[in-house]
Amino acid sequence: MIYLDYNASTPVDQRVLDAAVEVQGLFGNPSSIHHIAGAAASDRVETAREQVASLFRRPSQDVIFTSGATEAAAIGLIGAMLGAQRQTNVVVSATEHKAILAAAELGARLNGGEVRVARVDSRGVVELNHLETLMDDSVGVVAVMAANNETGVLAPVTEVADIAQRSGTLTFVDVTQLAGKGSLIAAMNSADIAVCSSHKVYGPKGAGALLASRAVQKRIVPLLAGGGQERGLRGGTQNTASIVGFGLAAQLAEAEASRDENRLRELSGQLLSALNRGLPEVRINGEGAERLSNTLNLRFVGADGEAVMASMPHVCVSSGSACQSASSNPSHVLVAMGRSRIEAEESIRISLGRPTTAEQVSLAAAAIIDAVSRVRELTAA
Ligand code: PLP
Repeated sequence: MIYLDYNASTPVDQRVLDAAVEVQGLFGNPSSIHHIAGAAASDRVETAREQVASLFRRPSQDVIFTSGATEAAAIGLIGAMLGAQRQTNVVVSATEHKAILAAAELGARLNGGEVRVARVDSRGVVELNHLETLMDDSVGVVAVMAANNETGVLAPVTEVADIAQRSGTLTFVDVTQLAGKGSLIAAMNSADIAVCSSHKVYGPKGAGALLASRAVQKRIVPLLAGGGQERGLRGGTQNTASIVGFGLAAQLAEAEASRDENRLRELSGQLLSALNRGLPEVRINGEGAERLSNTLNLRFVGADGEAVMASMPHVCVSSGSACQSASSNPSHVLVAMGRSRIEAEESIRISLGRPTTAEQVSLAAAAIIDAVSRVRELTAA
């Protein structure tokens, strides 16, 4: 198997796995700090909070642990809209992840407001002029993703935050895909609320975080009040093992991100060159935009993406996002970029990761060239 679907999920780093297994013995409830079993678990959760805070350049009290980015987005977006205590609209970029679009829809519905969608250009970059026309003082939150999970296209978050600030609007930034792959400084400086996920940075599934200052936290209505854990914003006993693993994964990402980024840029370049040498008519979705170094969203003209993937099952790539792969709709991201249904269906996302080697890249290139050539031949016949 050659795994090239790291934007869908990453394997747990062995160092993280060892830590998460060791911590399984710490069964105490992290809220039971009056005895040593609970205090031991609490200490580890607080260490993880500092590690995550450090990766995202925030003080540790800004980190609210959740089960993942989807839950963090629900708390951040729906909670902030409910906290506005009046009818509130939300602006989202057209290529947001479904987790954000669904939370925005529900937040708007509960609040009697509407979702306003900011267009992206043909490269997938949010159109700032259009976004500006959607702003007024009825908008409670603007959501923009730092890096797109399907195309790797980076958003102009600083400019979006400037526009939001002029209307007194909160800026919500999904940094799930940028974490561990590029500099988080601009995105985190721009974000009033940010969300991220452990399983995209070589941590275990079942952990993620909402990042917001104390002042912004006070503007969020908790959806799960529960026992008041996580500063009252996410009630429920914390998932100690996954959180500890997330903490270590964040620390490793902080230490290794720039090395990974350079290596993956080189490997992606090699993969693209090999594909261009072996196949005519390979198009890059997101070409001309700044993109994550690990992500290639490619359209093989005349070859249906599902058919290509079916003829090379040992090469793990994806069409659209992992969540969308199960649906028969074409990628909403590529459609928003102006691709036709057929163009979107001819596209495949290839995402490289920390364990990817040059040998895997050349084997994958050969398999993809072979699969695309066969599908094109069958389609033409
Ligand atoms: N946002 C982006 C950009 C993602 O890629 C994902 C995962 O696919 C999510 C949010 C949802 O994250 P999680 O799986 O942690 O709920």
